[in-house]
Amino acid sequence: MRWRETYIPTLKEPPAEAEITSHKLMLRAGLMRKLTSGVYIYLPLGMKAIKKVESIVREEMNRAGGVELLLPVLHPAELWRESGRWDHYGVELMRVKDRHGRDFALGPTHEEVITDLLRGEVRSYRDLPIILYQIQTKFRDEMRPRFGVMRAREFLMKDAYSFHQDDNSLSQTYQKMFDAYSRIFTRCGLSFSPVEADSGAIGGDVTHEFMVLAENGESEVLTCSSCGYAATRERAEAKAPGLSDEKPVARELVHTPGLKTVEEVSGFLGVEPQRLVKTILYRTEEGFVAALIRGDREINEVKLKRFLRTEELQMASPEEILQLTGAPLGFSGPVGLEGVRILADYSLQDGGNFVVGANREDHHLINVNYGRDFRVDGFVDLILAQEGDICARCGKSFTSGRGIEVGQIFKLGTKYSSSMKAYFLDKEGEERPFVMGCYGIGITRTVAAVIEQHHDRDGIIWPLSVAPYQVLILPLNITHPQTRETAEELYKQLKDWEVLLDDREERAGTKFKDADLIGIPLRVTIGERSLKEGKVEIKLRGEPTPISVSIEEATQKVRSILEDWGGRGRPG
Ligand code: ATP
Ligand code: MG
Repeated sequence: MRWRETYIPTLKEPPAEAEITSHKLMLRAGLMRKLTSGVYIYLPLGMKAIKKVESIVREEMNRAGGVELLLPVLHPAELWRESGRWDHYGVELMRVKDRHGRDFALGPTHEEVITDLLRGEVRSYRDLPIILYQIQTKFRDEMRPRFGVMRAREFLMKDAYSFHQDDNSLSQTYQKMFDAYSRIFTRCGLSFSPVEADSGAIGGDVTHEFMVLAENGESEVLTCSSCGYAATRERAEAKAPGLSDEKPVARELVHTPGLKTVEEVSGFLGVEPQRLVKTILYRTEEGFVAALIRGDREINEVKLKRFLRTEELQMASPEEILQLTGAPLGFSGPVGLEGVRILADYSLQDGGNFVVGANREDHHLINVNYGRDFRVDGFVDLILAQEGDICARCGKSFTSGRGIEVGQIFKLGTKYSSSMKAYFLDKEGEERPFVMGCYGIGITRTVAAVIEQHHDRDGIIWPLSVAPYQVLILPLNITHPQTRETAEELYKQLKDWEVLLDDREERAGTKFKDADLIGIPLRVTIGERSLKEGKVEIKLRGEPTPISVSIEEATQKVRSILEDWGGRGRPG
């Protein structure tokens, strides 16, 4: 491709709204433009990088037994009502009406549509398992679209769905997808880590997120350097570093007028916040639950919901608290608390002589000890984990890092097949709901993540596997006849590779700057001075110094470098 025949509108400065490197570079290098908040136009160079990622994804999905299809963007609301997500998915679901006033959703994910397809057509266990996937535009009305295509409202996703007769078959496919994802992100040149995660609105029990390690990542990942366990902060099974045990002393009621928060009470009593116990009351479908956590830490409601096996969890209202404890909000405590299931975080197994609310207005109890003064119905992992906490698996401590979630895989089980009545006939001729899995990769987010990991101050440094072009031929002065002829000749000889020829009549400085900015892995520079010696220069984008080769050798040299890299996807 000749530069003048394509469209690569580079920019000297990034637009003010771009906050992180990949966003700035994708705009500056002419990969994309913003249409409106969270909605982007993919320009030719960006499109080529996207296609590269897509084809790696396709190859690996096919290799793992996936079959490609294409599902519609426009979904009738009835399907989403059937699964219960028309209400549950919330305001992130983009909704439209047709001319008759009928409701539709613009697909943010396709469990409903694919389940609807299979329930009518696949009837026998003999047709299972099956893995179907598509690469398609998704819509999510994100609360805060930002960082360009990292968190967009319209973006490209590869989504796959698998259908099985039992959990065992699902587990096998889950592992295949896990391996395929690992190959995909490795081939994209990414340094990544699969981490245990929460399933959120999608549902299911087992799920991994594939995190690209990057300081601008939106997710926090906790990793145990000792046993290798890695999980999102929400998911990480952890214990706060223990408090020293204390000899129980006599319990006392103290007057704490108007003091409700941890800071107020600990300041007033001169006790460290971790010696306080917060008692938080929740309403669930099966009655009230009190969750106890150390004063310096927060309850992770996702963990609590999972433990209680419920999606419905609400904080108790001030009226309910008054009724349950006999005291207003801010003075709840476990001592004498009846008619409520009490769950305490593991960290309360250590230490003693705690301060708790007295279930009496303007009063707290001090020197409260588990066993002697209050009971619990169970010690549970309820803590929102943080760096320095103790890994529940091995007892060593967690370090924290940031990651970009590029993909996620889920064991869904029968969540959708049950609610949508998608059944097959098993060996015994019994009707059973499909066991399902689903597997997503953010295609456009992956391109941004590659740039986040591969750049320098001058621009992008594409790994060969996802580079829009492999070679850039850069004639310094295109009006110089021998320069132009040499460039054209090389361009012809290298036609088996993807080559961009910078045929613009620009100053050499501008061309060099743009070359660094758009980051094509291999550059062949043709200048009058070296031509006099019968030479051209070859330079790798990631390396500081060019090598000088004779004109005759140039093509062969370029080929051999590219072939050496081939398949590894990472220059150098
Ligand atoms: P996030 O937690 O970042 O909002 P998610 O967990 O809701 O993402 P999934 O439903 O797992 O996303 O979607 C699969 C993949 O699609 C994600 O791993 C991510 O790479 C990509 N993705 C999700 N939301 C967006 C978005 N708003 N913009 C770009 N890519 C996205
Ligand atoms: Mg996800």
